[in-house]
Amino acid sequence: MSTVLVTGGSRGIGAATVRRFCQSGHRVFFLYQKQAEAANRLALETGATAICADVANKAAVEAAFAQIGSVDILICNAGISMNGLMSMMPESDWDRIFDVNVKGIYNCVNAAMSGFLSKQAGSIVTVSSMWGQVGASCETAYSATKGAVISMTKALAKELGPSGIRVNCVAPGVIMTDMCGNLEPDVLEQLRSETPIGRNGTPEDVAEAIAFLANAKFITGQILGVNGGFVI
Ligand code: NAD
Repeated sequence: MSTVLVTGGSRGIGAATVRRFCQSGHRVFFLYQKQAEAANRLALETGATAICADVANKAAVEAAFAQIGSVDILICNAGISMNGLMSMMPESDWDRIFDVNVKGIYNCVNAAMSGFLSKQAGSIVTVSSMWGQVGASCETAYSATKGAVISMTKALAKELGPSGIRVNCVAPGVIMTDMCGNLEPDVLEQLRSETPIGRNGTPEDVAEAIAFLANAKFITGQILGVNGGFVI
């Protein structure tokens, strides 16, 4: 039985991913930052273990790994978004979004590394965004972090492949989670109408793609769009 760690697992894409791996019989842990109640509910529902840890905090991530031990599959899903003109963005917000979305992956991958190296095996799936591929107006910081996730994925795949560790990435489109909660219904409808498949995505759509990449033994360094054709 493989051990899986999903970061940002208390809701949205992360929660769907926790359910997906639990259903296929894995031993699943997940990190969350807030929403303790939702995290505890999901743990009860699935049998997964919830750990409160801010991925941007290296010591907190290391403490979580001390509790978990080594993992076979690491899903770097935790992320935050911030909207608005870059020129109006406080420096502290710029730093925070990079700390969570980019440094969070650095912290988690590094904490998982000794376990991966001792087995000469491992699978990492990062979660970027289609905005990391093409950029979004008024989401410059978010787009920049998600572009960084894509470059990190490709570079790490080259760096870690010889040690038996694969690194892949999903780049979701518009997925109906709390992260989209600040979008007006007419904006969501506009996005839906621009999507060739004709609907916005679900967390389960992304969880399925994550599970596929996690287990695809001859795939590494790839960015899989899960966007209904919005970005091709
Ligand atoms: P969400 O806001 O519903 O859930 C985010 C999860 O991350 C929560 O469990 C939260 O507790 C956790 N989290 C946030 N900051 C954290 C931190 N510092 N440490 C630990 N956990 C933290 O978001 P979502 O829509 O499920 O997004 C999940 C991932 O997918 C993110 O990386 C997001 O950027 C990406 N994404 C989402 C969409 C979308 O449309 N929803 C599109 C593209 C990419």
